[in-house]
Amino acid sequence: MLHQERIQSLNDSEARSKSRYVLYWMQQAQRVRTNHALAHAIELANERGLPVVVGFGLMDDYPEANLRHYAFMLEGLAEVARELEQRRIRFVIRHGSPDRVALDLAEDAAIVVCDRGYLRHQRDWRETVAAEAGIPVVQVESDVVVPVEVASDKAEFGARTIRPKIERRLDDYLVALDEPKPAESALELELKSDFDPADVDGTLKKLKLDDRVGRVERFKGGASQARRRLERFIDEKLEGYADGRNEPVARQCSELSPYLHFGQISPLDLALAAKASKGVGKEDRASFLEELIVRRELAMNFVAFTADYDSFSMLPAWARKTMAEHEDDEREHLYSEIELEAGETHDPYWNAAMREMRVSGYMHNYMRMYWGKKIIEWSKSHEEAFATTLKLNNRWFLDGRDPASYANVGWLFGLHDRAWTERPVFGKLRYMNAGGLKRKFDIDAYVEWTMTL
Ligand SMILES: Cc1cc2nc3c(=O)[nH]c(=O)nc-3n(C[C@H](O)[C@H](O)[C@H](O)COP(=O)(O)OP(=O)(O)OC[C@H]3O[C@@H](n4cnc5c(N)ncnc54)[C@H](O)[C@@H]3O)c2cc1C
Repeated sequence: MLHQERIQSLNDSEARSKSRYVLYWMQQAQRVRTNHALAHAIELANERGLPVVVGFGLMDDYPEANLRHYAFMLEGLAEVARELEQRRIRFVIRHGSPDRVALDLAEDAAIVVCDRGYLRHQRDWRETVAAEAGIPVVQVESDVVVPVEVASDKAEFGARTIRPKIERRLDDYLVALDEPKPAESALELELKSDFDPADVDGTLKKLKLDDRVGRVERFKGGASQARRRLERFIDEKLEGYADGRNEPVARQCSELSPYLHFGQISPLDLALAAKASKGVGKEDRASFLEELIVRRELAMNFVAFTADYDSFSMLPAWARKTMAEHEDDEREHLYSEIELEAGETHDPYWNAAMREMRVSGYMHNYMRMYWGKKIIEWSKSHEEAFATTLKLNNRWFLDGRDPASYANVGWLFGLHDRAWTERPVFGKLRYMNAGGLKRKFDIDAYVEWTMTL
């Protein structure tokens, strides 16, 4: 089912009467299955007796992206191209900024359908396309379970305040999407692509990329990989998730965040699979849905309603005040960004976490919290710590550069959190220490495991 609340007209232009196709400009939701935007484009095309073309703009310098991110994304797009062809939909991938490529392809289209992205540059591109296309541009919100404005019309204080708002509407939106079939084939249309999506290595060579951060072995991009991980998670790890998710040694979590970030799998598919899982305790299911829907969509709410979501200025007033009061506190250890990035601190647990991030593009959630809290402790100022954390997060994580990146780095500095007992450097920010790691789990086993990566 495709809810009307997911669909938003971005301009009031008239559809072009003489046109060759309906264009789905793919940007955020890089998948074929359970893609509400693609489904809407197919419906509109079928109503007009037109084929569907999916267009993708591939630029050299996507904000903060490097070789690691591009390789993962292109592995996913290779599958997108194959799956679209099976459905007789044409995939066109061109070199250029996503908005310019969309506008080029829009010249022969009746209507443009796009998916929704919440970050500043994603919003800007959609605004440009809506302003310049001269035909209707319709945005379909495809990468959240409950549409952001349905859940709330303002930036929420935290999970506590958004949870009841999401839960109230959850049953309405936890429903599978009907996948319409295109009536017309687009495969015969004459349209050139600048890249062969099947040739990932060749495409990477043609692009001018920041190659200081290399590809990873641990995660291969693509919807089939994501579905395999999801099946394994539901069969083997969902039972016990509520207790196990915080355990970096057992790693009893889905490890699907990179796929969600690139839109290679729909959060709706994850939620429906968890809901339908047999023999799994209610508490485990609820705990997974809390992370996947409440926490993840709190992050979308945050960036959608906070203009300066990536700046220190967005932090709550109480947090900025307490940090200012502790700005001059003595720091026992100080490390530069280079030392941090290399994992050269006195703390073997922290270095191991940094290694997991550097080598594999991912880090377990509990270690992410510890990792970020220590950067606060080891930086000259809170503002410097904020900038370093965000930079490293977005550079090394496959799931970086996401609304969840800004919300969670913000959380380290008090966002969506409350004041705790006051202490040096942190002030009233929540504190974490290595003692907690040792007490809670076999942290040495984690260190050993990271050496095998
Ligand atoms: C300092 C710090 C930085 C972080 N940076 C990122 C980031 O750049 N990108 C990112 O996607 N997540 C980030 N997170 C949130 C969280 O750590 C990851 O989403 C999670 O570890 C991904 O692993 P998983 O897929 O196995 O999660 P699971 O436990 O399997 O959870 C399922 C899904 O729920 C979502 N989710 C889980 N926890 C959170 C959370 N706290 N906030 C928002 N969504 C959540 C993710 O999409 C995740 O894939 C960060 C957390 C911290 C503390």
